[in-house]
Amino acid sequence: MPLRAKVASSVSRTAAALSRAAGRGDGSVIGGWIGLKIDPDLLAHLSSGRAIALVSGTNGKTTTTRLTAAAVGVLGRVATNSFGANMPTGHTSALAKAGSTPYAVLEVDEHYLAQVLEATEPHVVALLNLSRDQLDRAKEVAMMAQLWRAALVRHTDLRVVANADDPMVVWAATPPGDPARGIRPPHVTWFSAGQRWHDDSWVCPECGSTIERSGDLWRCTGCPLRRPEPQWTVEDEGVLDPTGAWHKVSLQLPGKVNLGNAATALAVAAEFGVRPVDAVSRLGIVTSVAGRYAQVNKDGRNIRLLLAKNPASWLEAFDMADEAPTLLSINARDPDGLDTSWLYDVDFAPLRGRQVLITGDRAYDLAVRLDVNDVPFQHVRAFDDAIRSVPPGRLEVIANYTAFQDIRAELDRVN
Ligand SMILES: [Zn+2]
Repeated sequence: MPLRAKVASSVSRTAAALSRAAGRGDGSVIGGWIGLKIDPDLLAHLSSGRAIALVSGTNGKTTTTRLTAAAVGVLGRVATNSFGANMPTGHTSALAKAGSTPYAVLEVDEHYLAQVLEATEPHVVALLNLSRDQLDRAKEVAMMAQLWRAALVRHTDLRVVANADDPMVVWAATPPGDPARGIRPPHVTWFSAGQRWHDDSWVCPECGSTIERSGDLWRCTGCPLRRPEPQWTVEDEGVLDPTGAWHKVSLQLPGKVNLGNAATALAVAAEFGVRPVDAVSRLGIVTSVAGRYAQVNKDGRNIRLLLAKNPASWLEAFDMADEAPTLLSINARDPDGLDTSWLYDVDFAPLRGRQVLITGDRAYDLAVRLDVNDVPFQHVRAFDDAIRSVPPGRLEVIANYTAFQDIRAELDRVN
């Protein structure tokens, strides 16, 4: 590395360590920020010489990044931003902290994908899904897909691993080549991880016609865009690879959603030459990811934490949760997005028949929504009240971002 980059990298590590010592989180954002101030090309310098995978999408990227890092770990040491700091400051800090590693697996905020592709020149990028997120600041879904598509066309040697079940992702991953200018379309491997949420992909991003669905298949009624045949799929409790071999996957993470994330991780690792048979047992060592899916026992209750931050991830959380008493908590602070009208995009009917408790800054918004949806509920002021209100056994907790952090802090305090 050039001297300036070495200095920047070292200062970045020191700043992160100081921030941690001061009790201000893991320091990866401030460390990366200072490093990039000293050397704006620091991320590129730190990336060079490493084989890198990027993982992006609206949902599931933290978990998929963790599973992919575990799978690629078969080959050697892997740098990764495991605390979910998924912008260039976080990537810079993660690579500086890891020192020299042959591999890196980085979670990337979907808005920064073009910039991070440019800086890191990865070997492979995984595109998971695109759906509506924080209404007051996120880009519209079709606009995100357009940005991805434009970014991919500039990296013709890139390998793309993409979700065949999401029409927006399929369109983004298949930009037309331009043989006259020597531009080839990227090489794509398709996986199927399912898509429970369809409300952002009824209209074809190519031609504006309706997208028709039948079972797992989908096709545009006005142009050739249709679901590609996936090479990696989930079947029963395992993953089918492109050769047709089936691998049993035993995860410590709940739900079919995470089996899909495991299939994605195996597909990405295969782009580095990792055989699924060698990687599959390593996926089982991943337990909770940044506190998500963590289980805590208190007063005879087994409390499990599920993070749900936008309509698609609420549907996934309902699928992961057991048929057990369920506490829902909603805040609308800055990191959550200030607008809670997305609650009306989510069908809460799957909760009917369970004991439902609500809490959080915006519990009353949730109350109105549940009432409209005919889901009976009980409001509790504090987490302890929720625990006292349910019988011994499982308590599922589904919360959005800062509500999740509040509950985690409360559980850390009592444990
Ligand atoms: Zn179309």
